[in-house]
Formats: sequence, C-alpha cells, structure tokens
Amino acid sequence: MTVANPIGVHALVWAGDTSPASVRHAIDRTAAAGYDLLELSLHDSVSLDVDAARAQLADAGLKVACSRGLAFDADVSSSDPAVVERGERLLHDSLAVTHGLGGTHFTGALYSALGKYGAPLGSEGRRNAVSVIRGLAQKAGALGMTLGLEVCNRYETHVINTARDALRLADDIGEDNVLIHLDTYHMNIEEDDLVRPVHEVGDRLGYVHIGENHRGYLGSGHLDFTSFFHALADIGYRGPITFESFSSAVVAPGLSADLAIWRNLWSDGEDLARHARGFIDQHLTASSVRP
Ligand code: MN
Repeated sequence: MTVANPIGVHALVWAGDTSPASVRHAIDRTAAAGYDLLELSLHDSVSLDVDAARAQLADAGLKVACSRGLAFDADVSSSDPAVVERGERLLHDSLAVTHGLGGTHFTGALYSALGKYGAPLGSEGRRNAVSVIRGLAQKAGALGMTLGLEVCNRYETHVINTARDALRLADDIGEDNVLIHLDTYHMNIEEDDLVRPVHEVGDRLGYVHIGENHRGYLGSGHLDFTSFFHALADIGYRGPITFESFSSAVVAPGLSADLAIWRNLWSDGEDLARHARGFIDQHLTASSVRP
C-alpha cells in the first residue's frame, strides 16, 4: 500500500495577510476545498496569532508548512555581517513560528532576499548563507523539522537557480534535514525540462510547489505537468505537493511586490483552489498507472 502525498495550498489563494480573521478564513476554505495542508507565508506575518492558528489547524485536521524569503536588508547571503545577522534572526524567528503552529516543514528562499540582484553571488556571501543555514538546520533537526531550499529563478535570487545549484548548496551545508524544494514555475524558467531536475534530486526532494508558467489556473498555461508527475512517480516522491498561485486579486503587500504579482489571473480563489485540487489528483492518479 502506498502512502498518499499531503496536498497543500498556499494561503495567498485565500487572503493577503495573517490577521486572525484571515487565517481562520484560509483554514476553513483549505479544508472545505479538500486539501490536507495549508502553507502560510511568514513574509508579512506581523499579526499572526500562533496559538489560535495552531488550535484551528488541528480542529480542521490540517497540516501546516511555512515559507518565506528574506530581504535585502536582512539577507544571509550578504557579505555585510549586520545584514547577515538580521537575516539569521528572521530565519530563527520563523522556524520558531513554524514549530509553534505544529509544522515540520520550513521552506522557501531561506538563503537570500526575494528580488533581482545586480551581480553574481560572491564567495563570502555564499559562505555566510551556508554557515547560517547549517546552524538553523541543527536547531530544526533537534525539533524533528525539515528545511527546504526552494530553487528560484534568476529574477528572485542569485544564490540557487537550478536543482544542481541547490544540491551543491545542501552538500556544503551538510545537514541531512536540508532538502530540496522544486517549483514548476521556476523550473520552467531555468531548467532544461521538468523531468531531469526531479531525477537528479531524487530522494533529496522534500517539498514541491505546483504552479503554472504565469502562476494562474493549472492547465491554462503551457507547462508539461504530465511529465513532471511522471518524474515524481519515478522517484517515489511522498512529500507535500502544494499548489501555488498568485493574482492581483489577493495582495500581501511585501510578498506580492517581491514576486511581481501585477496581473489579475483569477478573482475567485475558491474556484481556483477546487480546480487545482482536482487537477493534482488526476495527475497523481494517472502517473501511478503503469499498464
Ligand atoms: Mn514557489
């Protein structure tokens, strides 16, 4: 018998902030749309009530994962020690929030700001990122938690743009609980195809974002999801698969601007999320059929 992947949805499908009312709404809608997991971005999470959210998640029977990117003035890939320290503090605070919510996966661009850098990553910046994430991973490991290095495109980071970059970074960090997080939206920009990186990462894949090339409705763009799900089946991936989609209809002031969410790709998050849940299910089922 095979264990099913937890299927998640990003909270920005439902709400642009983490006020108590918005978190309640996101939890209720996520459960009603048939998902197993809610991903909360900690990018703009100032008013998050961790204890209340934890209780509501448990009541709804939902798992939770948290994600974030850093900022140019709080960036562990900087060569400026004060900037690195601010980034390190954000990471440790966010790890504690994830743990407080009952989550075991903390993922995203944990290694840099989310934005376009004007120069390649320098060796000092890389050493700083490796050293900070190693310390974070050791703390996470003691809590039974996993870190994800999300591979992002060149307009959002200069640290890791391909699965191969991410594997090298994880090798240098050298902690077993640092896994690779692939996102089809970013892969479309940087990788050869949607298959080779999955095979290359193999059992070090720890988290997946499913998103279209324009981040709208799954299947409305040109991404080859059939091949991607075949590749996940090839490696026997059993971790979370989270639907990520953004539209100008739901705005988180910091994150939406950092991700350049200028277009209205949908207005009805409910319809979008239900459609995505069915889309992922159909692809998982079809990819496991080996006539
Ligand atoms: Mn993503």
